[in-house]
Amino acid sequence: MECPNCHQNASRVIDSRPSDENRAIRRRRECENCGFRFTTFERVETAPLLVIKNDGTREPFNRKKILHGVMAAGQKRPITSEQFEHLVDDVENKVRKLGVSEITSKKIGDFVMEDLANIDDVAYIRFASIYREFKDMSSFMKTMEDMMAKRGKENN
Ligand SMILES: [Zn+2]
Repeated sequence: MECPNCHQNASRVIDSRPSDENRAIRRRRECENCGFRFTTFERVETAPLLVIKNDGTREPFNRKKILHGVMAAGQKRPITSEQFEHLVDDVENKVRKLGVSEITSKKIGDFVMEDLANIDDVAYIRFASIYREFKDMSSFMKTMEDMMAKRGKENN
């Protein structure tokens, strides 16, 4: 490991302990050249999760996209931002638990609907009615936003 101070590759580990609830190893290192001390972390590398869209193309799993989708569906409903965040956490956990490297956007939509049904009927119906037609988060999102923008104008 290169020393961040003198850039010599001559550090040694002087202390090693579990960190982040055993999800990482924290190592204290000392440069044998200049004596500078620094810390490194060792973690399991998680493979990037890819979402297969309806047209067969793939994109990286994106929490924000799901969050925006459910927030659009839950617009003007009594749902807190914590509830939205928890929903997305739960969906992400379910996806990660499958242990796959690729998942269809339809499957993610199914997880979202499962959770949304427990939170708010109206948001669930909004999400489900549009999502079932598209089966694709990206085009769904676009339609949802257009629809909400239109409704917003009608209400004003
Ligand atoms: Zn050094």
